[in-house]
Amino acid sequence: MTRSSTLARRTALKAGLAAGALGAPALASAQGNFNWKMTSAYPKGSPFYMDGPGSATDLAKRIREMSGGRLNIQVFGAGELIPAFEGFDAVRAGTVEMNHANAYFWTGKTFAAQYFTAVPFGMNFQGMNGWFYDGGGIDLWNEVYAPFGMVAMPCGNTGVQMTGWFKKEIKTVADLKGLKMRIPGLAGRVYANLGVDVKVLPGGEIFPALERGVIDAAEFVGPFQDRRLGLQKAAKFYYTTGWHEPATVSELLINKAAWGRLPKELQSIVENAAAACNVIGEGWCQKANSDAMEDLVKNQGVIARPLPDAVIAALRAETNKVLAEAVAKDPMTKKVHDSYMAFKAKYDRWSEVSEEAYQLKVRG
Ligand code: CA
Repeated sequence: MTRSSTLARRTALKAGLAAGALGAPALASAQGNFNWKMTSAYPKGSPFYMDGPGSATDLAKRIREMSGGRLNIQVFGAGELIPAFEGFDAVRAGTVEMNHANAYFWTGKTFAAQYFTAVPFGMNFQGMNGWFYDGGGIDLWNEVYAPFGMVAMPCGNTGVQMTGWFKKEIKTVADLKGLKMRIPGLAGRVYANLGVDVKVLPGGEIFPALERGVIDAAEFVGPFQDRRLGLQKAAKFYYTTGWHEPATVSELLINKAAWGRLPKELQSIVENAAAACNVIGEGWCQKANSDAMEDLVKNQGVIARPLPDAVIAALRAETNKVLAEAVAKDPMTKKVHDSYMAFKAKYDRWSEVSEEAYQLKVRG
């Protein structure tokens, strides 16, 4: 801090104290308080997304406590202030300062957003964090959103998701043809190329659609979240191989002008609270999913198994084609893709002799 700004601060503090003595707002307003709104793509009460460790409300609470109440964020579930998937436009317009969702909901605005949520056959939680925090991933995210006047950062992660629920067994690639399936993002395009009739529905609409046969299959998140929606009551085949979302990132999206008005220390509090929620939320998922998967298989007659190898091979080939097409169309997508894939190649080589080697050969 320069001498003149220190003096200015002292003068402001004195003025604040004097105003306080006269009954006007004192120190707090001299420092600057911020009352913000944060919307979510998930309904009020949703575990992990809206409630519990690492959720949107937990993030707001951490920010409020760390800032001593200077940054107050009111959290709204999907449909409370705006519909589920309108967070991007609301933050862009400045109607709300923040939105809590997943970047892959915005691929219609900018395809590169996909890479900041999950890339099919891409990196796991550890690899994603390496790319985000130390491999230039967050900087690229902000570059992609700069034309929209927004910034973003990771604030949660589900870990590897499940392929999803199918009313009928999937034995070959041909079994996918004509299947009506709820699946968002890039994975939806991949399935569509293999003949799947792709539907994008908010979480709350999945169970009724699957139960009534409006759809034949659905992916949502993982054992805990899927069981909460009751999907096991509408379909019995639960394919485990989460090829499509190996580590799904929750996105904290922020209006750039509002972000610029926050003093540095409040920006730092937001960044630190988001990083804490990124890890704490993922930890919660590991515990919740281990319990739920055991219950689904032991008590609820669910048949949990990986997809056949030939189906995975077809999905991989189609994913590579879809990514190549997207990269050819858009220079920004190419820039993000190249950064992601270069990091992944390095991380894969390291992981083979570290995390994977431990899991496969040592753990027992
Ligand atoms: Ca999902």
